[in-house]
Amino acid sequence: MMSKTHLCVGALWALAIAPNNPIACTAAIAMGGFGGVAPDVDIVSLKSKNDVLVCQLTGLIGAACLLYASKLFDFGIGLNPNEEEVWMGGAGFVFLYLIGAWTNHRSFTHSILALFLFTVCVNLISPSLAVYFAIGYLSHLMLDLLNRRGIQLFFPLDSRICLHLCYAKGAANRFLMSASLITIPILFAAKIWVW
Ligand SMILES: [Zn+2]
Repeated sequence: MMSKTHLCVGALWALAIAPNNPIACTAAIAMGGFGGVAPDVDIVSLKSKNDVLVCQLTGLIGAACLLYASKLFDFGIGLNPNEEEVWMGGAGFVFLYLIGAWTNHRSFTHSILALFLFTVCVNLISPSLAVYFAIGYLSHLMLDLLNRRGIQLFFPLDSRICLHLCYAKGAANRFLMSASLITIPILFAAKIWVW
């Protein structure tokens, strides 16, 4: 799938499990979207097509703004009060992100192991945001499983898994992106309505 699709689907999945209040929903969209694109750090380079680079930056900046704003205004999204653990989580995340950037496409970052390690780091930064990041990340792995090129879901094992159901840039990709883009504002509005 294209990065824009991963961004939208990750945000939608996280929004779907968020409680009905505007702050939690906004945090879910930001962290779910970031989790949705994070695995494709393994194809980011200066030669990357705009789609990949722009979506990685959108996810990173969105998550960073959310964390910084939360620290500044303390609007209760549950940052870890233990600063040492926050720094450990941040350093671990950057370390994993850099490892991901150096590994082959759809290998380490597209595995259950990476999902677990990245989520542990986010959990150290903010326990309440980790679930949104994890669900976004999981959505990426599940969408890529539909493709005709396999992912190393059980890295470090070499075997690649896929369901051969669609092409990364085909009609299914466009449908999922459009459907998510339409559903996100509707679901957001519905959750605020019942809040
Ligand atoms: Zn991917």
